[in-house]
Amino acid sequence: MNIHEYQAKQLFQQYRIPVPEGKQAVTPEQAVEIAKGLGGDGWVVKAQVHAGGRGKVGGVKLAKTAAEIDEFSRDLLGKRLVTIQTDATGLPVNSLLIENIYPIQREMYLSLLLDRASERLIFIASAAGGMDIETVAHETPEKIISVQVHPAAGLQGYQCRKVAYALGLQGPQHKAITAIMQGMYDLFLAKDASQIEINPLIETDSGDLLALDAKINFDDNAIAIHPDILAMKDASQEDDKENEAQQFGLNYITLDGNIGCMVNGAGLAMATMDLVKLKGGLPANFLDVGGGTNVEKVCEAFKLILSDGNVKAVLVNIFGGIVKCDVIAQGILEAIKQIHVAVPVVVRLEGTNVEQGRELLSNTGLNIYPADDLAHAAEQVVALAEAVA
Ligand code: GDP
Ligand code: MN
Repeated sequence: MNIHEYQAKQLFQQYRIPVPEGKQAVTPEQAVEIAKGLGGDGWVVKAQVHAGGRGKVGGVKLAKTAAEIDEFSRDLLGKRLVTIQTDATGLPVNSLLIENIYPIQREMYLSLLLDRASERLIFIASAAGGMDIETVAHETPEKIISVQVHPAAGLQGYQCRKVAYALGLQGPQHKAITAIMQGMYDLFLAKDASQIEINPLIETDSGDLLALDAKINFDDNAIAIHPDILAMKDASQEDDKENEAQQFGLNYITLDGNIGCMVNGAGLAMATMDLVKLKGGLPANFLDVGGGTNVEKVCEAFKLILSDGNVKAVLVNIFGGIVKCDVIAQGILEAIKQIHVAVPVVVRLEGTNVEQGRELLSNTGLNIYPADDLAHAAEQVVALAEAVA
């Protein structure tokens, strides 16, 4: 799960990671009001969306007057912001973060994430941070260092010093970076984060370190035990189809291809997608309908798959273990009739009562292609999608 920058900065404050003073605004009037409350002679107006790359597309603006804050707020609120990290339709800007402008001496990069290869949390740091960190990673990877934290030993002083030297920090800044890293580490563990990123981490004119941007992702598998984090969820920033799927207990993820996939079991769904690709096709989605499938779920699954205009053919791959194949076949027929599925549907069933299931699906007069073997089913669905495309 993702949260907004303003929420991440609230969590940073709880863990003593220094952030600029600021507040969230949902109207231009409120934005001006907040700026007045903050005082000073310059403010940053930042679009709150669940994506980075805002700076490059006008999602972060520096204002010198109340009139400018009003203008920028009117400009951004209610718009959809398209950045390098969003899809072509972008994400809705429903709120802004208003902060004082800080004079930037230099921009650095610091993040903490799970390194699956070493099975440890790992800090990534670079003295060259800011909006072009991707270019740094690409062209001068030696400028980026990493530090692995042993889970039993915890974060060690020498590890913070290694990062401090890499960032070119001096004197009291060593103490400051140690506190920031410890705060990130504590926050990561306490809230079951999966990534914390500060880009840029800045040095101000007076040498202070400050998290100018804040991005936190959380582990969805642990979110249920963190109601405070769950309360920060903003459904407007997520895929509509994925939200809808959640309501029906379906596990759905939109992809770019044209072959809809309906499978029970996440592992089988992954294997099915692999096979579709192996046969030269591209899956339009990942969809796990779960163990106890029924007609309603199958109907909802079809609706989800077909609400994607790219879908040219559907592959249903269901293993009847908990539910029997004939019950599933019935569900598929019902769903296809109920919601008028027009595209060809290849169905591969296996498991209990598979013969009865296949019997039900043959000679229906509908656009259904029963298959008895998964490789063949994948080949068939790819051919059917190509024939339509
Ligand atoms: P992102 O592009 O979505 O990652 O948004 P950021 O929060 O990182 O902001 C992008 C850029 O805006 C930063 O790299 C800074 O250069 C600039 N910026 C943001 N806040 C301030 C500020 O308080 N003062 C100044 N001078 N620049 C800022
Ligand atoms: Mn940033």
